[in-house]
Amino acid sequence: MKLPLSKYVWFDGKYSLTKKATIPITTHAIHYGTSIFEGIRAYWNGENLNIFRLDEHVKRFRKSGQFYDISLNFSDQEISDAVIGICKKNKIKESCYIRPFYFVGDYGISLHVTKSAPTNVAIFTFPFGDLFDKNGITAGVVSWRKFSDMSTPPQAKMGGNYLNSIIATQEAKRNGVDEAILLDHNGNVSEAPGENIFIVRNNQLITPPLSSSALEGITRDAIIKIGKDLDIDVVEREITRSELIISDEIFLTGTAAEITPIISMDAVKINDGKPGDVTKKMMQEYTNIVMRKNQDYVHWLTEAY
Ligand code: PMP
Repeated sequence: MKLPLSKYVWFDGKYSLTKKATIPITTHAIHYGTSIFEGIRAYWNGENLNIFRLDEHVKRFRKSGQFYDISLNFSDQEISDAVIGICKKNKIKESCYIRPFYFVGDYGISLHVTKSAPTNVAIFTFPFGDLFDKNGITAGVVSWRKFSDMSTPPQAKMGGNYLNSIIATQEAKRNGVDEAILLDHNGNVSEAPGENIFIVRNNQLITPPLSSSALEGITRDAIIKIGKDLDIDVVEREITRSELIISDEIFLTGTAAEITPIISMDAVKINDGKPGDVTKKMMQEYTNIVMRKNQDYVHWLTEAY
């Protein structure tokens, strides 16, 4: 799938034509997955471009590399400015996805990565609408387990980690469903390949804890806060596999997926195959917030211009 990339990218501190931003074939990250990335959304409301939770994304960006002593040789302010800058440079006037990433560069074949290993940083962007059908998608538990802290840190948003997501997605598609659900090393529900999961049971909003190897998603955090503000009982606890199919509602959260209802789980209809009331409320709240229609959450938006 070729992306409709914008004309300019940001590469090691400079704007460059996308087609001119190239790297050597010896780049360490290509061989060993030593790359860190973020996915950020910016929303065009007809007048302004609002970046959703930019500070949180930039913080996680740096933190991911720290697990592996991979250096991000730009300050948080420089990265934030570059994210805003790439939108300005490309004169973006539609909602878009922004992908900052850094990676170990020309570092030979050594597996001893240290803080002094050379790194490169880049940011690209492309127009982006819905990742999934917002009327709801089908999902199923796959046989591959989510990797855990027993092998590699699940909180590091690193290229190599996504092999687990890729193999889970392949199995889900072979099984004829839209999205995979991975169980953790104990057999409890962890998350989807690129999204966190929430279930609704008896008006309680429940999501797996980080100890179930779920990524500390920024959208997950937003939903927890919005839920609490709406006086919904929000609980982080382990979710058993069998609980999924007796849930009143299920939805996924993520920067790309936003809030996506799951209307069928392991071929069992959830809420008669329709998005539930809590899910719909969360979708509406999220849309209002990112479109700057809810003043209570404007601190989550950075106006690029
Ligand atoms: N889990 C995984 C594995 C992901 O890749 C993502 C996407 N970043 C998420 C959850 C959702 O995180 P966020 O809401 O921060 O995009």
